[in-house]
Amino acid sequence: MFDDDSTPCAVCDKPARARVHAGCRERMADALRELPQLYRELAVALLPSRRGDGPAVSGTPGRGLPGGEALDLRARGGIEGVVGGWARDLCERERWDVPAYQSVQAIVDWSCAILLANLPMLCDEHEAVKELAQELASTVGHANSILTGEKRPRKIGVACPCGHTLRVTLDTAGVRCPACSTQYGHSEALRLPLAERRAA
Ligand SMILES: [Zn+2]
Ligand SMILES: [Zn+2]
Repeated sequence: MFDDDSTPCAVCDKPARARVHAGCRERMADALRELPQLYRELAVALLPSRRGDGPAVSGTPGRGLPGGEALDLRARGGIEGVVGGWARDLCERERWDVPAYQSVQAIVDWSCAILLANLPMLCDEHEAVKELAQELASTVGHANSILTGEKRPRKIGVACPCGHTLRVTLDTAGVRCPACSTQYGHSEALRLPLAERRAA
C-alpha cells in the first residue's frame, strides 16, 4: 500500500509499475518480429550440405541427421506449434475466427502478427504471459543456435604443451596430438590453454 512500485512484473517478477515491464514486453515483441524471418532462414540451413559430410536431407529425415533440428522447428508443431498455439488461444478467448491456412509458414506469419498486434492486451490480462515470454525466448534462442551452428562449426584451437595447435569441438571425445603423440581425453583437451591466433 505504501509503495505502488512493488507489484512484481508478470514476466520477470521484478518490481514494476505496469503489469509487465515495457522492456519485458519489448523483448517479446522483438521475438515475434524475428520468428517469421528465422523460420525462413532455417529453410536455408536445410539445404543439402555442401560439405559432403552426411546424407542429403530430403525425403524422410531420421533423428540425428544434419538439419534434423531445423526440420523440427520448421515442421508443424515446431515454431508453428508455439506461436500458433498462443494465437489460437488468443482467438478463442476473444471469440475471433482462426483463418484456415494450409502452409506452416502462413500460420507462423499470421500467428506472430496477431500476437504482436495484441501484445499490450496479453501483457495486461493474460494469466500465462510469463509462459508466453519464456516460450518465445527459448524458440528464438533455439533457432538462432541452429543457424549460427550451421554457419560456424564450433571448433576451437587449443595449444598442446609441445607447441602444436589442436582443433577440437566442445563435444570432442578426445584428441591425439599429431606432433608429440600425447593423447587427451574430452576434459583434458578442453582444459588446454586456448591457442593464440597467428597468421599462418
Ligand atoms: Zn519484467
Ligand atoms: Zn603435442
